[in-house]
Amino acid sequence: VGVFYRPLEKIGAVIETYPKGVAGFRRYQELLATEPDIVDRPDAIEARALRGDIRFEGVSFGYDTGRPIFAGLDLTIAAGETVAFVGPSGVGKSTLCALLPRFYEVAAGRVTIDGIDVRDLTLASLRRQIGIVQQDVFLFAGTIRENIAYGRLDASEAEIDQAARRARLGALIDGLPAGLDTVVGERGVRLSGGQKQRIAIARVFLKNPPILILDEATSALDTQTEREIQQALADLARGRTTLVIAHRLATIRDADRIVVLGEDGIVEQGRHAALLDADGVYRCLHAAQFGADGVSATAAE
Ligand code: ATP
Repeated sequence: VGVFYRPLEKIGAVIETYPKGVAGFRRYQELLATEPDIVDRPDAIEARALRGDIRFEGVSFGYDTGRPIFAGLDLTIAAGETVAFVGPSGVGKSTLCALLPRFYEVAAGRVTIDGIDVRDLTLASLRRQIGIVQQDVFLFAGTIRENIAYGRLDASEAEIDQAARRARLGALIDGLPAGLDTVVGERGVRLSGGQKQRIAIARVFLKNPPILILDEATSALDTQTEREIQQALADLARGRTTLVIAHRLATIRDADRIVVLGEDGIVEQGRHAALLDADGVYRCLHAAQFGADGVSATAAE
């Protein structure tokens, strides 16, 4: 994961068209190295105030390695819906989500938002519609305020303060003598992993996009921090179309829909309880994470 913390200038032009917090998106560096061709079409239009209806229509995709990751995948996500993607490691959860902001280009089919092919939108305006919160948060040396404002450079002081509080950073800020103007990073206050994540969440509150991609942490934070982050994320997801790249099944029980990906695309989808009852792949994944007791305990809920 450390590979993503290269100097910002190496990210070059793309970061300018994707201003906020994406520097840590997994494999972003490789993407930049391999996909320099993703540019605006000459007739691309500006995305404005999208509702966030998402469709993957007959989507096929594979990396250069040749092995197809998706072939003819269809998936419709309603505006405001929270969909969690689960499946074995390497099955393509992150890849599927990465097609939405056009970090990669589909080989066939199309991805649409509100019926508009994402390739018909300018990259900058498309990516303004999508907030990303990931486990590895990129912070630069500067104040907390500046790090949050990275989500929207023209934000007012009041807006930044509000975003920080909605991300549950209020207690932290109030406890620091310089508050939002506290310098973080090597020369300043060192933030914990959980605090950094809340800065990432504050950035997205500030950006206020209709669509959210949550790349869930692979390892658990301590229980209290975990709960705060989950609550902040739940607040953030409210009213937005949310795609969750789920690594730990415990956090996605309340998703509107769980989509189980397998080698051949979508193998199951539904709510947590219904999928457990279905006794299919999801139940197996669940048993693998929680043990058979976990399954029966949850099924009995
Ligand atoms: P995990 O749960 O481990 O995060 P995932 O389901 O999110 O996995 P992806 O990260 O989407 O899976 O990867 C899908 C497949 O594509 C994997 O086999 C992975 O090794 C491969 N892959 C991912 N990124 C690239 C890339 N930039 N170039 C080549 N192959 C890649």
